[in-house]
Amino acid sequence: MKCTRCKKEAEVELKSHNAAFCRDCFLHFFENQVAKAIKTHKMFSKTDRVLIAVSGGKDSLTLWNVLLDLGYEADGLFINLGIDGFSEVAKGKVEKFAQSRGAKLITVNLADDGISIPEVKNKIRRPVCSLCGQVKRYYFNMIGLKNGYNVLATGHNLDDEVSRLFSNVLHWNMEYLEDQSPVLPDEEGLLKKVKPLYRVTEFDTSVYAFFKGLDFVDIECPFSKGATFTVYKKHLNQIEFFSPGTKIDFYQGFLKKLQPIMADDKNDSKNRCKICGYPTFSDICSVCRLKGYR
Ligand code: SF4
Ligand code: ZN
Repeated sequence: MKCTRCKKEAEVELKSHNAAFCRDCFLHFFENQVAKAIKTHKMFSKTDRVLIAVSGGKDSLTLWNVLLDLGYEADGLFINLGIDGFSEVAKGKVEKFAQSRGAKLITVNLADDGISIPEVKNKIRRPVCSLCGQVKRYYFNMIGLKNGYNVLATGHNLDDEVSRLFSNVLHWNMEYLEDQSPVLPDEEGLLKKVKPLYRVTEFDTSVYAFFKGLDFVDIECPFSKGATFTVYKKHLNQIEFFSPGTKIDFYQGFLKKLQPIMADDKNDSKNRCKICGYPTFSDICSVCRLKGYR
């Protein structure tokens, strides 16, 4: 198999793009996909201060690496969830990366606010993941605003977005569909949010991280077992296998045809939390509730 771009021996085949690449051309392709996402959706420019939500996993470290290579001012924010045997390993990987690239890293310890994820898990009866997601989003936003960043970037890739879209359509979660986009503009109390990896797949990201020798956390969070998104991803990959290009078509089709209508119709009647000012549907946001405010 020859590289589609330079005709040298190819190392990676990308059926959905009808292409194969050698190592250098794959890295060029990957960076181009990210650059294209940033440009098409006007995510940010070289004068913006970008804060990246880094977990220590391959996606967020890949995103950080690419943005630094593309010349953006991009700092990292790591939230230590306080999960035994997991959070410290992740923290070590993020610190090592930041040091190797001479990049700025901000770290927050949830335990300092009495809401480490194991503590939260003990207080509730439902699965902890949805609250964990809310807590992380809250801190990313608050820390970003407090420190003068213009944009918050996350490492969601095409597989994440497609499985989320699939789930939202299966359950007709209209309010989630309204908010599903590679870019969410800023609003009062909320930073602009972007997903520069939305055009590349989980496979592409793994190949990029491998070629670049990124050292990321490869153990799973002990609370992640049985996550429905993993099941959706597996089924979507089967469809992709028989019909390459389906995932990107499904997502791009949504962005072109349905998302603009949904965004126009958006009913944005959120209150602000009485304690911290964060947008919420009730008087007090879920994080302030967890902290003990009633
Ligand atoms: Fe949080 Fe659940 Fe992810 Fe673990 S698997 S980090 S608990 S969202
Ligand atoms: Zn609050």
